[in-house]
Amino acid sequence: MIKKLIPDYFYKSIYDIDYRKLYESGIRLLLLDMDNTLISYKETLPSEKLLNLKHELEEMGFELILVSNSRKARVNNFATAFNIPFVKFSMKPLKRGIKKAIKKVAKNRYEKDQIMLFGDQLMTDIYGGNRCKIKTVLIDAIDKNTDIAPTRMNRKLERFFLKRIKKKYKEEYDKKLKEYGEEYDS
Ligand SMILES: [Mg+2]
Repeated sequence: MIKKLIPDYFYKSIYDIDYRKLYESGIRLLLLDMDNTLISYKETLPSEKLLNLKHELEEMGFELILVSNSRKARVNNFATAFNIPFVKFSMKPLKRGIKKAIKKVAKNRYEKDQIMLFGDQLMTDIYGGNRCKIKTVLIDAIDKNTDIAPTRMNRKLERFFLKRIKKKYKEEYDKKLKEYGEEYDS
């Protein structure tokens, strides 16, 4: 199980990614977590910067779908303002919500190696994406102080598993999680 918690990549934020390179590598569908990946729990709407990024991505040829575990109206409100389709109450790390995004929302038009999931949590986003055998990108949470209770619980688990991964898969840890783990401890 713990191997499935290792992301393919780690980035400090969604603005630090070379999307052109991703596109050239064949990625076409981006599944995006909302809370603390795109906006903090305190925010409700996409910023100008985020909207600009979205336009750039769509111009490059990516398709974007929001996949959130939240079942609140804020998902609908955000997705509407952001103007992308969404799956709410997705229950990551279960496969159900992610599969719904791939099969129903994106109409099964993409192969697994064309799909990439972005999120700020190992226990939900990365584990869920890896279970679905798609590519995963871990993002540093925008503002961990805004985490809601279940997420804070997940962060505790995350810390525990980070240590196990570091012990058991040192090479992968150093390559993909070291920076994240260090930040975590500070
Ligand atoms: Mg999140």
